[in-house]
Amino acid sequence: MRFELTHYPIVKTLLKNRWLQLLVWLLMLAGFLFAILSGFSGTPVGNRNFGIVFVWIAWWAVLILVAVPFFGRGWCAVCPIPLPGEWLQRGAIMDPPAKKPRWFNLRWPIKLRNIWLQNLSFTLVALFSIVILTTPKVTSIVLAAMLFLAIGMGIVFERRTFCRYICPVGGFIGLYAQAAPLELRVKEKQVCLTCKEKPCYNGSSAGYGCPWDVFPGGITKNTYCGLCMECLRTCPYDNIAVNARPFSADLAKPSTRMDEAFKAFIMMGAAMIYAAIFLGPWGNLKLAAYSVGSLAWFGYSAAFLAIIFGLLPALFLGVVGAGKALTKAAMPLKKSFIAFATALVPLGLMFWVAFSLSFVLTNAAYIFSTISDPLGWGWNLFGTAALAWHPYLTGLLLPLQTLVLVAGLLWTGRTAQKVGTEVKISPIPVIIFSTLITIVMAGLLL
Ligand code: SF4
Ligand code: SF4
Repeated sequence: MRFELTHYPIVKTLLKNRWLQLLVWLLMLAGFLFAILSGFSGTPVGNRNFGIVFVWIAWWAVLILVAVPFFGRGWCAVCPIPLPGEWLQRGAIMDPPAKKPRWFNLRWPIKLRNIWLQNLSFTLVALFSIVILTTPKVTSIVLAAMLFLAIGMGIVFERRTFCRYICPVGGFIGLYAQAAPLELRVKEKQVCLTCKEKPCYNGSSAGYGCPWDVFPGGITKNTYCGLCMECLRTCPYDNIAVNARPFSADLAKPSTRMDEAFKAFIMMGAAMIYAAIFLGPWGNLKLAAYSVGSLAWFGYSAAFLAIIFGLLPALFLGVVGAGKALTKAAMPLKKSFIAFATALVPLGLMFWVAFSLSFVLTNAAYIFSTISDPLGWGWNLFGTAALAWHPYLTGLLLPLQTLVLVAGLLWTGRTAQKVGTEVKISPIPVIIFSTLITIVMAGLLL
């Protein structure tokens, strides 16, 4: 079941248009640079500072509630972080130049071509997240560090190695993009087999070779395609399509990679821990997470790491083992563990949606006051600077979160069933496990 959106010439023209893309990029880049600037020179009060409010409340809301669930890697298509590095790497902002600049252009090491570094970078950000999310200067340092790292990597390595292998945000977007009802695929694989030059990967005068180091002819899931639309421009056979499709289409085929399996546990565990810290009544836990470098913080960090890298995967291993024993399946435990971790993707995404609803609806009022006075300098650009804080839709929050968690559980149950059929192992223990952790998450949220 696919519906080709690029079948309509207007859609294809808009997606291929570099000027439109540039306009969006410049707007994003301006906002991003202003967020960095506001952290260094604006008010140190987090909920009055543009960087904190527009990155961690406004952007986060759009990303996790809309962009990822509906457009997959749609955010990566407009993200400003890799742009300066990519422009330097290409020696151009628009079409490919006649002469490429002579940078190092190295290939990324084969051993690192996985998402373990992204798992690590996300975990590091998560460990320091309370400080990052509440202190404007620290937010600016993190954003600037990402920008400079992306520039450095753009000069040293070919293509977008920062996005593909390092970016802490890109890693989880890739995981959850598998659930999105949008994809970029080739229309006919046969056409790719006979296409000699493969300009979609190697580039041509019409556009750049895939910046994400993906061969479009081989794409089977959304995880690593950044929806940059270069292949739509370069394919001489009009063989690239952007399709609308059913939710979670990629999850019908279980993962075979341990790095991707662990990404699912890291994200799920982090959502639960965040719910406990930000929404729970435990003041000491909040204090421990905030007091970076203190003994309490080391204790908190050790517990954080133990939950996401130890407890959750170990429990899940036992659960998958029980399913194997029930069906007397021959598939090795490691392979079954990885395959069933795919089923946790929808539940993890819905955990984040449910958590973010609380977080965003409670704090959204700061967006209106901060837009009038983004640096906390006493401006009142749109007359909303003095708008008092109040939470939005409080009456709707609990039913909405319950609905989201139940939908996530059903979605994961269905995915586990499909994985079970594929690997011939009973999905029942995994479904019970998912139900239990959904109850824990509901307890933390509700
Ligand atoms: S350029 Fe087009 S036809 Fe050729 S390999 Fe790429 S997607 Fe396939
Ligand atoms: S060139 Fe095509 S396959 Fe590669 S990231 Fe861009 S849209 Fe995806």
